[in-house]
Amino acid sequence: MLARDDALAALAAQEFDVVVVGGGITGAGVALDAATRGYSVALVERADYASGTSSRSSKLIHGGLRYLQNFDLGLVREALLERQLMVTLAPHLVRPLPLVVAAFDRPRPDRMVGVGLNLYDAMSLGGGRRRGRRTRLAAATRGGEDAGAYWSPERHRVISTAEVLDLLPALHARPPSCGYLFYDCQADDVRLVLTVLGEAERFGAVCANRLCVTSLLERDGRAVGVHVSDVETDSEFAVRADTVINATGVWADQLRPEELRDEAELPRISPSRGTHITLRHEDLPLVGGAVVPAGGGRTIFALPWLGRTLIGTTDNDYDGELAHVHASRDDVDYLLAATNAFFATDLGVGDLTGAFAGVRPLISTGDPRKSVDISRKAELYETSSGMITITGGKLTTWRAMARMTVDRLTERESRDAPCRTHEIPLGQAIEPAQLARVEGVPDGAYAPLAARYGHAAHDVLSIAAERAALAQPIVHDRPDLLAEVVLAARREQARSVGDVLLRRTRLGILAARELRADGDAARRVAEALGGELGWDRQRIAAELRLFELETRAEGTLLGAPEPVPALT
Ligand SMILES: Cc1cc2nc3c(=O)[nH]c(=O)nc-3n(C[C@H](O)[C@H](O)[C@H](O)COP(=O)(O)OP(=O)(O)OC[C@H]3O[C@@H](n4cnc5c(N)ncnc54)[C@H](O)[C@@H]3O)c2cc1C
Repeated sequence: MLARDDALAALAAQEFDVVVVGGGITGAGVALDAATRGYSVALVERADYASGTSSRSSKLIHGGLRYLQNFDLGLVREALLERQLMVTLAPHLVRPLPLVVAAFDRPRPDRMVGVGLNLYDAMSLGGGRRRGRRTRLAAATRGGEDAGAYWSPERHRVISTAEVLDLLPALHARPPSCGYLFYDCQADDVRLVLTVLGEAERFGAVCANRLCVTSLLERDGRAVGVHVSDVETDSEFAVRADTVINATGVWADQLRPEELRDEAELPRISPSRGTHITLRHEDLPLVGGAVVPAGGGRTIFALPWLGRTLIGTTDNDYDGELAHVHASRDDVDYLLAATNAFFATDLGVGDLTGAFAGVRPLISTGDPRKSVDISRKAELYETSSGMITITGGKLTTWRAMARMTVDRLTERESRDAPCRTHEIPLGQAIEPAQLARVEGVPDGAYAPLAARYGHAAHDVLSIAAERAALAQPIVHDRPDLLAEVVLAARREQARSVGDVLLRRTRLGILAARELRADGDAARRVAEALGGELGWDRQRIAAELRLFELETRAEGTLLGAPEPVPALT
């Protein structure tokens, strides 16, 4: 990405076709879609990229089996098509994941689950006929778009006790009688956002974080840009653009609330909090994911993720602070109780390696006929200033949401510029074997680097070769390298210890305990970052304190929520 200072200079000086507000997956997707259709694009993010809901998901790129229960067939079908496209466009980032519905004390698994999985297979393109391999589909499977090369999952099937245990070794204490095996996909949500932003920049978009939109810039009642406040300096300037796109997720109704409510009658966004926990792989070993019953007909997932086990999620109404959502103790107890009951384990809060929570931008629809445009889960509004608001949806469906948004723009301008994002590879996938070995870098780091960065893993390794210390892991036994901190500062606009530990790497939620116990790890990160950003010793100490406050505010190791006035 552009260095932030260069991005700020360009944002202040140029006039753009489009300014996108919000640097989560939706805003990133809109920026990419618009840039690839020839628009000049600016994107501004109030805090850090993906610091909102887009870093707090269950990390599944999926159709969503549970939406089938509500007969939300259109949504599931769309998400399954997007899933297939994503695994093709970003195979290093979006990876197939086997999932198991285990059965106990019965010779065959629940027939109704099988009916649902049959439907799921049928709805995923090519399901059943093309098994577990990449398939080049002729053309034009969706609205004239050439589908290109697709990954296609195997059909679901019944598997034996031994096969279930191979995929879910954590069930050894409670062997199942059999199970269903089916497939979805998994990603690092933040990395997906950063990768999409990187591609948008490749097509000319200019993006900057820590720029908060305070109001719209207007001419004759039309939005012609936004006023932004630079959170780092408190200075203000205008970003001029013909169209403003509001992609601020759960904050969508806070940008010009009167305009949105009075004219479009924006259904209220009613945030719902979802909490996740992480555990050591050794404490709950999983090769595939497990669908875990959680009482009252609800299920949660237990998933292998980045070398840990990820468990979630809860789903409760939430009316608290949105910027730093705290992982609630009740939610954690609920997740642990369901996990322990299912796996016959005795895991407690002391076993967590981290926790995080996020809020879904759920739309509580009033009268849907009054909405300007409606798609089941994503909502698009155009209001009198010309501002276009896009909210709702899922991580999985970001591309479809972006297409819908930019289609609105091209339609109103009668511009012939069809969507191209279905053919834009994301982040240049590579194989770990293509990476040159660098002295000091542990063998186990190459595959995670290739998976996280694709081709840019070469750049991480060049930095690792600069100094022996940079080739070392940040935290003992985890693959993330100190070189990644430097790359994050130089190439990804990381500005704080939290940016690096919570989002560029995911150590803040995967190794929260180690980071707390080994104060040296966070210090090394702060010093490496400070070396790039020109911090003195005092600033390094202040930034470390800020990281401590941020993790307390978010409850990465639980504890009581604390107000953090200094955080943005
Ligand atoms: C617990 C949970 C689990 C989930 N699991 C999955 C899953 O497994 N699979 C899936 O497909 N989906 C999942 N989702 C849904 C998915 O995460 C969200 O739909 C998606 O991340 C929303 O992205 P967004 O860009 O719209 O919002 P956000 O990521 O919140 O981005 C909005 C951005 O706007 C910025 N912003 C706000 N106001 C301003 C302003 N005034 N100026 C500048 N910037 C501003 C914010 O800082 C924020 O970064 C899950 C959601 C939750 C909560």
